Amino acid sequence: MIYLDYAATTPLDPTVIEEMYNFMKSCYGNPSSKYYEQSEQSKTAIRTARERVANLFNCKPEDILFNSGATEGNNFILKGIADAYKHKGQHIITSVAEHKAILSTCKYLETQGYDITYLPVNKQGVVELESLEKAFRNDTILVSIMWANNEIGSINDINTISKKCKEQGILFHTDATQIVGKLPIDLKQIEVDFLTCSAHKLYGPKGIGATFIRSSKYGRKPKITPLIHGGAQENGLRAGTESLHNIVGFGKACEISQSEMNNYIKHIEAIENDIIEQLKTLPTIQFNSPKDNKIPGIINFSIPGINNEFAIKMLSEHYSISSGSACAIGEPSHVLKELGNEESDYFRISLGKFTKNIDITEMVNTLKQFT
Ligand code: PMP
Repeated sequence: MIYLDYAATTPLDPTVIEEMYNFMKSCYGNPSSKYYEQSEQSKTAIRTARERVANLFNCKPEDILFNSGATEGNNFILKGIADAYKHKGQHIITSVAEHKAILSTCKYLETQGYDITYLPVNKQGVVELESLEKAFRNDTILVSIMWANNEIGSINDINTISKKCKEQGILFHTDATQIVGKLPIDLKQIEVDFLTCSAHKLYGPKGIGATFIRSSKYGRKPKITPLIHGGAQENGLRAGTESLHNIVGFGKACEISQSEMNNYIKHIEAIENDIIEQLKTLPTIQFNSPKDNKIPGIINFSIPGINNEFAIKMLSEHYSISSGSACAIGEPSHVLKELGNEESDYFRISLGKFTKNIDITEMVNTLKQFT
């Protein structure tokens, strides 16, 4: 069985497992308790993990907040900013190609009286600046545009978008779930106000993620209403006893990613090129991912006339590939539809650092039978 669904989730790095295992064996104190050793050990573990995550993003550790992952982070930023700034305005800008964790939250906010503008994307799956500039209004309180797309891998120009928002005095959030651990991110250079991600896309555990909230040089952060109320954990912004072992695993995954990324990017790109060449022998194949300006390791393609669910089932004995975003099971792709693609059925092969050079002859031959 060859695992080719890294964009859905990655296997745990064995060093992450080891770090989590060793931690769980010896450390169980509640970090909110005071003075005694077990609780101090837990506090230290969280501090170390926060520093490791911050190092990967080149940001201040105090700007990193731990939570259960990108879905929670996206809900937190959209609902939290909508609530905290409703006196200022009720308009939010996002794009049509966002993940469901953004789109469904926006739909919910519409029911609460907020006005959402969904920017179109071009053929490369990217938001164009012109449409963003036209959408700004006096009552716009937040712009939320994903960094990289989970279905086709396209990358938005987050540097320029964040600058445009700053010029307008509008807060900017990016869902960076698909780019974190795949390409370097430097939050000192790229001035987003908020960023969300999940650990399980970079060889860390599931159910843990981080939200970056930029503080000013005086330590001030934008106002935001918490999603979960309760204790004072995470600066009162995310109540509940911390998921310590997951936080530790996430921190280790970020540390590994930082040291290994340059090497595995090259490895993934080489395999990707090789797979594309093999796939090109399918006469009617249509590649949906952009050629340039994309994250390494995502190959999205369609074969007109093929029922992709059926084909993927046939292939599933040997290859785990995806017929759509894991979060939109059974639905045709809203992203391909927005690209103007007549085929809303697709195949997504996504690679990772553990992918070996592979021979997909069997996959190609099986797909040929369908064409
Ligand atoms: N945003 C994007 C772009 C994603 O790819 C995903 C995961 N597929 C999410 C958000 C949600 O992440 P999680 O399921 O870890 O909360």
